[in-house]
Amino acid sequence: MNTNLTTDRPTFVTHLECSMTGERYAADTLHNLSRVGRPLLVRYDLDAVKAAVSRDAMAARETDLWRWRELLPVRHTRDIVSLGEIETPLVPIPRSGGANVLVKDEGRLPTGSFKARGLVMAVAMAKELGVTRIAMPTNGNAGAALAAYATRVGIETIVFCPDDTPEINVREIAVQGAAVWRVNGLIDDCGAIVAKGAAEGRWFDFSTLKEPYRIEGKKTMGLELAAQFGWSLPDAIFYPTGGGTGLIGMWKAFDELEKLGWIGPERPRMYAVQASGCAPIVRAFEAGVEHAERWEDAATVAAGIRVPRAVGDFLILRAVRESGGKALGVGDPAILKAVEECAKKDGLLLCPEGGATLAAYKQALRDGEVDEDERVVLFNCATGLKYPMPAADKTLDRHAPIDFDAL
Ligand SMILES: *Cc1c(COP(=O)(O)O)cnc(C)c1O
Repeated sequence: MNTNLTTDRPTFVTHLECSMTGERYAADTLHNLSRVGRPLLVRYDLDAVKAAVSRDAMAARETDLWRWRELLPVRHTRDIVSLGEIETPLVPIPRSGGANVLVKDEGRLPTGSFKARGLVMAVAMAKELGVTRIAMPTNGNAGAALAAYATRVGIETIVFCPDDTPEINVREIAVQGAAVWRVNGLIDDCGAIVAKGAAEGRWFDFSTLKEPYRIEGKKTMGLELAAQFGWSLPDAIFYPTGGGTGLIGMWKAFDELEKLGWIGPERPRMYAVQASGCAPIVRAFEAGVEHAERWEDAATVAAGIRVPRAVGDFLILRAVRESGGKALGVGDPAILKAVEECAKKDGLLLCPEGGATLAAYKQALRDGEVDEDERVVLFNCATGLKYPMPAADKTLDRHAPIDFDAL
């Protein structure tokens, strides 16, 4: 029995805050974006958290996502929804990566991707705040996680995805109880449909960063890393960046942990990794600007990071710059090669987005941007089993003589 799911614990949310202007918004009421159209961030009374729970007490709990309850927004234990959000392992990949490279394998989470972290929190909050109908644009994994959790709490969901979304994603969304529509466009085109329906009052808009609680769920990646590294942090993090929720969430986590006195001021260099066929953040980083323009004709095998426009662009860029990291683009051939190398040499099957982080790491190593002795974490954000694999079509006729030497 996991007591994190049954124990009532105090909560410490004080208010929400516009990430651009700092304007305050009330907690415990429904919000989408701020008045200036930017994401809202959840704020806590961290002094009170510090007085209520120690680092050691936190460390002694079962290691799932809900152990971080005092740093999460859900007020009532009865509103927690769970499919078993485990702490994900750090898997060494010495042959394809290097002696100090660890993969945080998020593919072990419910629905096979780290979208579960964000959506488990957003759905719990939707339940707490009385939402009954949700719509969302997706490149696949977010829709699957939403469908699963919303079905569990009886919220109706309508999901829109680009018509070339991986087939398995479309089907898992449907079988887990959502209405799913294939749209002849990209994810931001799907987002426009969701926004229109929301403006007409048909549903609540659950787009990336357009509701405040997915960041809080993704924040647990940063909390977990700190605990796994013995309350320190790695030297560098390579994160496959679409909407950037995870990168923004981890950066927020580190900040909160430092304010609690649970970690020091050191930070990892944050590398935002994109596919060169859809790299708006890389382009903005290199141009030295604060906002990214839409990337036209976006195309990459890494569907999860095919996001032409991110509403949290400035938050991603800010974290990357403050950390001394970079935004890096890698091509599809390098992505596919990295997936194959990691599988063949280390027995770990990455998703293409995870492959992108390995490819970017190797590029950064060649460019002298990172050093071999540095402790590096690569994020593999979904199970590789959801994606197409190279064919394996050798057959054997059991009725014919078998040439055992040739096997
Ligand atoms: C969604 C997704 C990403 C990008 O995550 P963001 O936090 O939205 O940038 C990366 N990899 C996979 C597999 C995804 O599904």
